[in-house]
Amino acid sequence: MGIEVGTAVAQPGTLSRGMLRVGSLADGSPINVPVLMASGRADGPTTWVTGCVHGEEYGGAAAIINVLQGLNTDELRGTVVGVPVANPPSFNFRSRVSSIDGHNLNRIFPGDPGGSYSLQLAAVLGEEIARSANFVLDLHSGGIGAEVPLYAIYKDDGTAPVARAKELAKRLGCDVLWRAQGEAGLGGTFTSEAIRSGIPAVTVECGGGTFLPEHLRDYSYAIRNLLTALEMLPGEAPIQERYTIISDGAFLHNREGGLFVQDSRVGDIVAKDALLGHVINLLGETVDEIRSPYGDAYIAALRLPYYPTHAGEIVGEAIPVESYETV
Ligand SMILES: [Zn+2]
Repeated sequence: MGIEVGTAVAQPGTLSRGMLRVGSLADGSPINVPVLMASGRADGPTTWVTGCVHGEEYGGAAAIINVLQGLNTDELRGTVVGVPVANPPSFNFRSRVSSIDGHNLNRIFPGDPGGSYSLQLAAVLGEEIARSANFVLDLHSGGIGAEVPLYAIYKDDGTAPVARAKELAKRLGCDVLWRAQGEAGLGGTFTSEAIRSGIPAVTVECGGGTFLPEHLRDYSYAIRNLLTALEMLPGEAPIQERYTIISDGAFLHNREGGLFVQDSRVGDIVAKDALLGHVINLLGETVDEIRSPYGDAYIAALRLPYYPTHAGEIVGEAIPVESYETV
């Protein structure tokens, strides 16, 4: 045992709480990352579950708080480190990027202790997981203005921890896995930083917009399944009959602003040039169409219906199906 993250200290059989100081504001107020730490009575791995690396994706925070508070530490092996909000300056302003320096934290790992604020934050988070984590699960969503289906991402940089991450991704309870690779897929993300430190890491995507009971259910299911797959909780993690492996996708940006209208659904697999959505102006005229650049493409994200959208925002994500696998 002996796990410490900031002021949170693992105590067998209890849920402890604390704060990890990650900087300060101009007025001297500390910037703190809250930490919940559930420790079993029996020894086992230390698994970090993180939310709000993108601060507006608050569903992850809700799920982490709920799951950590609901864990029975008598049946838990090892320690779960729950970090509801990994990026306070982004969370506080309900924004994908930092209110301090405008950076997207999930593109700048490993960070830099002497760099701008988000780079400093990335460096601290990277150090903390390298010091204490055996596994990392990072929770994301479509944010406030978009939605995603439930799927898992593993970052394939070709190293040993990736095989373990993929194995775990298959046990979370979802049948779609995104094999992210290359600069576009790995580039500076929190989970790619974990993999770089030799820690198997998986991302779960779920929901967006209004946080609904089914989002809490799906996130909680995925977190508990990971802990079960790691034998930190008793039972058997689910195995799907077939997995859809997707890879090499693209964010889709609109060229004209207006209200976004969906013409497909997240989770659909569509043909090349299929209409994913269109943009109407406030006179009701269609000013832009968003089509799939690929055939056999999984719709991994879509702007919410009639969400006001400036030109050049992310309105969708299409990722080609690479293969189908069984366990
Ligand atoms: Zn995100």
